Amino acid sequence: MQRLSGIGVSPGAVSGRAVILIQRAQVLRYRIGAKRLDGEVARLEASRARSREQLNDIREQLASRRGAEVASIFDAQLLMLDDPMLVPRAIEIVRGQRVNADWAIQRVFDEFSAVFDEVADPYLSERKGDVADLVGRLKMNLRANAATPRDVLQQIDEASVLIADELTPSVAAQIDWTKVRGFATDAGSRTYHTAILARSLEVPAVVGLHNASAIIQPGQLVVIDGSSSEVFVEPTADVLERVNRQGHDHRPAAAAEPGQGPATTADGVRIRLDANIEFPDDLAAARYAGAEGIGLYRSEFLLATSLVGEDEQYEVYKSMLAGMAPAAVTIRTFDVDEDQVAARSTSDAWDADRERASRQGLRGLRLSLTRPELFEAQIRALLRAAPHGQLRIMFPFVSGVEQLREARRMVAAVAADLTRQGERVPDVPVGVMIEIPAAAYTADLLAREVDFFTIGTNDLIQYCLAVDRADERVSGLYEPLHPAILRMIVMVRRSASRQRLPVSLCGEMASDPALLTLLVGIGLREFSMTPGAIAMARQVLADVKTEDLRAMSRRILRLSTATEIEQELTASLSRLAPLRSSQ
Ligand code: PEP
Ligand code: MG
Repeated sequence: MQRLSGIGVSPGAVSGRAVILIQRAQVLRYRIGAKRLDGEVARLEASRARSREQLNDIREQLASRRGAEVASIFDAQLLMLDDPMLVPRAIEIVRGQRVNADWAIQRVFDEFSAVFDEVADPYLSERKGDVADLVGRLKMNLRANAATPRDVLQQIDEASVLIADELTPSVAAQIDWTKVRGFATDAGSRTYHTAILARSLEVPAVVGLHNASAIIQPGQLVVIDGSSSEVFVEPTADVLERVNRQGHDHRPAAAAEPGQGPATTADGVRIRLDANIEFPDDLAAARYAGAEGIGLYRSEFLLATSLVGEDEQYEVYKSMLAGMAPAAVTIRTFDVDEDQVAARSTSDAWDADRERASRQGLRGLRLSLTRPELFEAQIRALLRAAPHGQLRIMFPFVSGVEQLREARRMVAAVAADLTRQGERVPDVPVGVMIEIPAAAYTADLLAREVDFFTIGTNDLIQYCLAVDRADERVSGLYEPLHPAILRMIVMVRRSASRQRLPVSLCGEMASDPALLTLLVGIGLREFSMTPGAIAMARQVLADVKTEDLRAMSRRILRLSTATEIEQELTASLSRLAPLRSSQ
């Protein structure tokens, strides 16, 4: 048995046969049963035949337009297609290691690359580019028959666990989690988007394992224990028995007893607890958990596989609003970047999907403003759905007042258009996420032009501290209790209260009961969190008085380091009220 330690991000323990996903190379590696080996080899041969046709076509077109010399560039690739070290070698790997063809062809490429890297010959390094191009083509043609990871994972018969270098939320969103019981990744930290998703799907998960996807072989029996932050490869009978005894349901005890109605502190102060959701189906979980409303619907999850048009979006928004009415539903406009949109414009979302939660480029509202057709379709769908419930529209990734003004102008234009067409468009509150330090520093200016703020600490922390939340090498520096973060939250709260603006906080910080009490001490009264965290938050808040939390936060805001703050927080809380079930 081998034991790997990482960061447990979603509790519970499960066992299953490993399926390996190397997302950086965009290949899934899984075991092929003896009966299916011939079929796998046939897929490789078909991909080779299709690649040959394509290369011949390209060659002919180039020859007629640019002459034979330019076209001869592709002769090298056509020759390589018959090289015994390429497809025949991949076939050998499929049969010898009983793995899928996609993985085998990637292995062959890795072998080629290693050889090319050893010789510092410029001619040969150019050939490496040709091999990469050809291998990319072979992989693309292999995928023609198994388009999405969901299809691939559905071919897997046995209960499995997914081991990946990294797992993006849109891929996670496509997986059938009844077959895949849990996952472990090399990359990631607690606030990694996929970790957030794992908690809402209630799938045990361990991240930040560095090299699990290299160590674990497909088909090996693996235990993923999200509660102890460990992964066991080929576990002993004892470990396996413990996992099987525990079964699959490992929700924290408090979460099993959801309460209803507003949460209240021991001195009777009401604290609003909303739910963060990723899928319309999560409404039931949110209601069950006793959420007062939806504080954050990450609408970009609608785009997991393709760009969804106005009418389809309208149906989703309408049923969410009606399903939660009269409670408010805050729908955040798409928080995606240009690569993600490009990937979803093609039929194969899986292929180009290279998303990282930490992207700083043309993302969120910035992207929406440069893609008016996308943005307007979403706003139209939202405003048409608005009469069915209590909608609030929220813009993500705002870094300045200009963007907000432009977005509001577009919303007003869409509303005027709909009214002209005879639609009834109610007044819809419009807010912004405060998740970029520039927005926090200009919160007083933004406050004059919006109806509410939502503090997104997941991004705020990473941009304020310059720590990529998906990069496990620096994820230790990702520290919600850094004095800079607490000061920013204080600043935003003050700017909001001067304008009498509602402000909530929807980052992962809110689902940690200890941090939640500090945030209440700082003066926040509205939070939105993963539904599974609501019951515990309610229970912890019931035991504490806001006046004590205010005094605690004053002491904490004078401290210089996150470590000192954490010590003070723990000591204060154990004096005020032991956190009954959070440890
Ligand atoms: C945040 O940044 O805190 C947030 C809630 O948004 P997301 O995690 O979706 O980026
Ligand atoms: Mg964010």
